[in-house]
Amino acid sequence: MRATFLYGAGDVRVETAPDPAIQQPTDALVRIVRSCVCGSDLHPYHNLPAAEQGTPMGHEFLGVVEDLGAEVSGLRRGDLVVAPFAYSDNRCAFCREGLHTSCPNGGFWASGGVGGGQAEAIRVPQAQGTLVKLPVGEDSELLPSLLTLADVYGTGYHAAKRAHVTPRTTVAVIGDGAVGLMAVLSARRLGAERIILMGRHGERTKLGLDFGATDVVPERGAEGVEKVRELTGGQGVHAVLEAVGYMNAYETAFGIVRPGGVISRVGVPQYEDAPIGFGSLFGSNITLTGGPAPVRAYIENLLPDVLSGAVEPGRVFDRTIGLEQVPDGYRAMNDRTALKVLIQP
Ligand SMILES: [Zn+2]
Repeated sequence: MRATFLYGAGDVRVETAPDPAIQQPTDALVRIVRSCVCGSDLHPYHNLPAAEQGTPMGHEFLGVVEDLGAEVSGLRRGDLVVAPFAYSDNRCAFCREGLHTSCPNGGFWASGGVGGGQAEAIRVPQAQGTLVKLPVGEDSELLPSLLTLADVYGTGYHAAKRAHVTPRTTVAVIGDGAVGLMAVLSARRLGAERIILMGRHGERTKLGLDFGATDVVPERGAEGVEKVRELTGGQGVHAVLEAVGYMNAYETAFGIVRPGGVISRVGVPQYEDAPIGFGSLFGSNITLTGGPAPVRAYIENLLPDVLSGAVEPGRVFDRTIGLEQVPDGYRAMNDRTALKVLIQP
């Protein structure tokens, strides 16, 4: 099969790789129908040291079940399924609490001997717990929106859930990438009436307004903080959904959060040390939360409104490419000429 590998910063290659096969009785083999490039794929794209051996890439996909291990029930060959960005057994203590990313039998795509999603096919460990059957055909127009359930929609939703967004919550979302826009959509779904989107890319913030943002703040840093404070009568917001991951976004977050508020981070932090003391979090009783989203926990909840067309999260995809063009897809995301790139292998 053809599959995507990263050989170092900026060095994405599509190569012929061994066809995946069932290894464990709990595995499934899935032919990938749609995949995509994630903002978080850009972190290794920026800083992976050059290596002889390529790293498989991609953690968002939906596809058709081609083969099943002997212990997998509830799925059949030919089913169209979506996979969350982490696999899990969906039955251990952590999964039952909705924290599938901490499943002791789980793991992440493109690591530990499991392939990546930017490929023609993939072996799915813990298939019964991981894969969710989609009641549409592989020619459905809903595929882009359904693919967002693999990561970005669930991740934006996780940010809003962790921040306990309700109708009385004033929300600020930092970042106008796909996850930030999904955080806007999710906050709106949870009833928030005031949603301030911090982002400076006109087309993206326009989509954010369609998804439910009420205000857009393009300013950054101290200016951005001042603007959000102005918009909230000097008080700041109850919930900050941080969808960037850089230190300056974290600094903006504690600059705009209201006393007693919540900072919920879903942008993968590109730092280990950050202020948490009196002047940042402690003095104002701020809660800091967030982490990798257990999107498996949210798929059944988010699926009906995607199927009915009540929400169209797939609007974040603004370019579609074939598998051989994946290196161009990375470049386009990196240059910000594409918001999110859909791959049709
Ligand atoms: Zn589990």
